[in-house]
Amino acid sequence: MTITDTDVRLAASVDRSIRLITTGKASGETCTPDLAAGPWDFDAGAPGYGPGSSMGDVIPVGSPRQGALPEAYRTASDDDLHERIRAAKATLGDRVVVMGHFYQRDEVVAHADYVGDSFQLANAAKANPQAEAIVFCGVHFMAETADMLSGADQAVILPNLAAGCSMADMADLDSVEECWEQLEALYGTEPDADGRVPVIPVTYMNSSAALKAFCGRHGGIVCTSSNAQTVLEWAFERGQRVLFFPDQHLGRNTAKAMGVPLDLMPMWNPRKPLGGNDADGLVDARVILWHGFCSVHKRFTVDQIERARAEHPGVRVIVHPECPMPVVDAADGAGSTDYIVKAIAAAPAGTTFAIGTEINLVQRLAAEHPEHTIFCLDPVVCPCSTMYRIHPGYLAWVLEELVAGRVVNRIQVDDATTEHAKVALERMLAAKPPAAPAGAPVPLIGA
Ligand code: SF4
Repeated sequence: MTITDTDVRLAASVDRSIRLITTGKASGETCTPDLAAGPWDFDAGAPGYGPGSSMGDVIPVGSPRQGALPEAYRTASDDDLHERIRAAKATLGDRVVVMGHFYQRDEVVAHADYVGDSFQLANAAKANPQAEAIVFCGVHFMAETADMLSGADQAVILPNLAAGCSMADMADLDSVEECWEQLEALYGTEPDADGRVPVIPVTYMNSSAALKAFCGRHGGIVCTSSNAQTVLEWAFERGQRVLFFPDQHLGRNTAKAMGVPLDLMPMWNPRKPLGGNDADGLVDARVILWHGFCSVHKRFTVDQIERARAEHPGVRVIVHPECPMPVVDAADGAGSTDYIVKAIAAAPAGTTFAIGTEINLVQRLAAEHPEHTIFCLDPVVCPCSTMYRIHPGYLAWVLEELVAGRVVNRIQVDDATTEHAKVALERMLAAKPPAAPAGAPVPLIGA
């Protein structure tokens, strides 16, 4: 039997590591033994994000819940599920396309037609108009974006409706609208002498379609972790300041790299009047940062970087810009998942990397690049709680339902929201980075 790259990856998968650690067959630590359970065990319980990095975050009331996964899928063996997924995909042919986010477990990624970050996958959805169904193995806001960019007659399916994103949930439309009213009362709505409006709203791709539409309606724009600097430059050309949500860290790290002083980046806490600021503190603000964060990237610390440097002299430390600022400052580089993937691929053989991003991607990169030594900065195995909610059992279920002519777990964004959100997305696509002078240094963020 030939051993394929997929076999090698699955042998080194995070699920496998969790099983070995929780059964005492391997040393190591997980953030909770609950990770060894099937995600369906958490669909029926009290609302929550489930085991993993977001388990301490409070889930908003009314967040989507997943109904019971039929028993046949809960009790099937791994081999059985893989065989059923292969068979369903073969039957459906190009009527279905399966997207797998970088942070999904390898057992799901093994069946993906496309693997990438949220924006790469949304574009892949757009590039497959023949597919009647797009099965999006990622989280809720990603499926929404794929729905907005794909054809009206294409069904976007999220295999587990409980796969939200705790960071995206930290900014909801009502709170952002309340914030906006307070900012308009403070700054007014008239442009300055240079024609720049008082505030431009900028939302990270990791946000609901409703917030992307808010930006579309209010002269704002969407950004990704790859283009945040270009988008902020676009916004500063048109506005005196930016309201950046939901991720404070991406906003702070990007603006700091552009030279915005920290004292001109107040935080907006939606639970407090004026976001917890006094009016004087907001007058000179350049970037107002929403009080949101990613619980995966918040786990990385400067101590972990110091330990990696002490134990692995010459190690290259690369982190995601959703990490806190001191971590980004202490790293050798920071950038999107795509940046991390490319930096590893471009390095000379024998490089040692300590990576600060989600463990599934880090372990996959380590398996795919045996010429390097690659490890996760955080020694505790703690995957993204919401990505974890997708499992081959749910993938087999939604695919077999499609074979039977039934669409389950469809994610649909209404027409008005789609129209306004697309305005903000198109502004992002049209925003171009200024031409770099010859020999200019490569920017640290968002390369
Ligand atoms: S890694 Fe962070 S931002 Fe990405 S889906 Fe998980 S919680 Fe959300």
